[in-house]
Amino acid sequence: MTLPRGFKANAEREATRLRKELGISPAAPLDVRQLAEHMGVAVVSADRLVDRARLEELERLQAFSFSAATFDVRGNSYVVTNPLRSEGRIFSDIAHELSHLLLKHELSEIRELDDVPFRTCQPNEEEEATAFGGTLLLPRALLLDAARRGLKPDAIATENRVTLEMARYRYNSTGVAKQITRRSS
Ligand SMILES: [Zn+2]
Repeated sequence: MTLPRGFKANAEREATRLRKELGISPAAPLDVRQLAEHMGVAVVSADRLVDRARLEELERLQAFSFSAATFDVRGNSYVVTNPLRSEGRIFSDIAHELSHLLLKHELSEIRELDDVPFRTCQPNEEEEATAFGGTLLLPRALLLDAARRGLKPDAIATENRVTLEMARYRYNSTGVAKQITRRSS
């Protein structure tokens, strides 16, 4: 699957615009919980809704089947996160869910989590939300700034509270390291 034309550039612009709304610089780390609050979205840990033991049971039955989900209740959006995940994973998951909302994806497919129905999006929209979320957390301006300071993906992941996997992906796919090398050579 490929992203629509202009999608990546738009995601970069949105990352800058949202930081501006939050009063932080284009290269500053983004606190997705703060962004959620700004968007009027409540972030709720799933263990406040169901027993942690049931979440652990679900995880044993089907590992990684539940990362996060968005619920729309009487016009209010709730992002439910999985407390069994690492902080970086939860951060990425919140960014993914907020991206669905920012991209105005329709929650259409009904799935169930432990007999609780929730809606999810089409596969192409899942891909878009992941790409958009990654850009919100690690936009080009931020990566370039980090690369200039000599930071590698592991340090970028720590500084931005994201997974190493995401830091690596964004660091490599945006080509910031090469850009720095070219300039200094
Ligand atoms: Zn999704």
